[in-house]
Amino acid sequence: MPARRLDGTAVAAAIRAELLAGVAAFTAETGRPPTLAILLAGDDPASQVYVRNKERAGSEAGLAVRVQRLPATATLEEVIGRVRTLNTDPGCDAILVQSPLPAAMGTRATERVFDTIDPVKDVDGFHPRNVGLLVQGRAVLAPCTPTGVIELLVREQIPIAGRHAVVIGRSEIVGKPMALLLLQRDATVTVCHSKTVDLPAITATADILVSAIGRPGTITASMVKRGATVIDVGTTPVRDRATVIDLFGEGSQRLASFDARGTTVIGDVHPEVGQVAGALSPVPGGVGPLTIAFLLKNTLAAAEARRRSSGA
Ligand code: NAP
Repeated sequence: MPARRLDGTAVAAAIRAELLAGVAAFTAETGRPPTLAILLAGDDPASQVYVRNKERAGSEAGLAVRVQRLPATATLEEVIGRVRTLNTDPGCDAILVQSPLPAAMGTRATERVFDTIDPVKDVDGFHPRNVGLLVQGRAVLAPCTPTGVIELLVREQIPIAGRHAVVIGRSEIVGKPMALLLLQRDATVTVCHSKTVDLPAITATADILVSAIGRPGTITASMVKRGATVIDVGTTPVRDRATVIDLFGEGSQRLASFDARGTTVIGDVHPEVGQVAGALSPVPGGVGPLTIAFLLKNTLAAAEARRRSSGA
């Protein structure tokens, strides 16, 4: 029997609808909407699309979204300077710096920029203070993607407590916070990465398998326990037709869509896993929409926290 499809688009739509009342109340009380500033440095095509999507979703939710664009030639100091200005801007509630930053800024650039963001405006929850609060289970602003995954599991009534959750990937933005959030929900958690020995033997014991690698089709059916819940966080833009045929086959809907656009986004999970898993989040339409919904939710949370702390 094919896996149940975990519909991230529908869950995200529900979350966004629930936000409207809070956004309206904040706007009525303060005379301005909750405001998100997005800094985009460089011309990475995928980042341009992500930022446009965030801008549109924010506007639809009643937020003010201010995008500041910097050229690929901008320096790290310029980005840090912009962040400092936003930190002290009373009309800005939340700051997002789109990654990746241009490679010329150096390997520690992202870390330095995230360290500069005022923790109360750190809508992605990447500042060390917010990471510390997350570790202690009292985060106000937790990273959007793993928070979205938990919400998807909860709303789709997938039990977490006592289950063996395997997370593949240990990045600061997905893998590590994902593992922490699953642990806080009482899962028994194993974290895997590129140096893990015999990955398939570990993934095959997972009740909940979360893949955040960024390599299309890596998770095959033999790596998944029958009936397991599989969450595919990976999103890799693919421009190679042969890869699409290899994964989805000639005559597939995905190939037709690829042929129409010349590109498609593919997850880490091979389509054959749909025949083994009990529930599966698709790419696209799984975790991606939830990431955006939680960006909006965190913006409102940051705005409300600032208003409370200012006594306004
Ligand atoms: P990342 O920083 O590149 O981390 C990738 C992780 O995967 C690393 O921990 C790496 O291990 C591990 N890995 C790589 N190859 C592996 C292999 N063959 N076996 C086991 N582990 C392997 O990436 P990220 O920022 O976490 O993002 C991961 C994916 O999620 C990307 O496709 C990204 O586009 C996607 N993503 C999607 C959303 C969304 O909203 N849907 C949001 C964020 C990210 P090492 O640590 O040992 O190198």
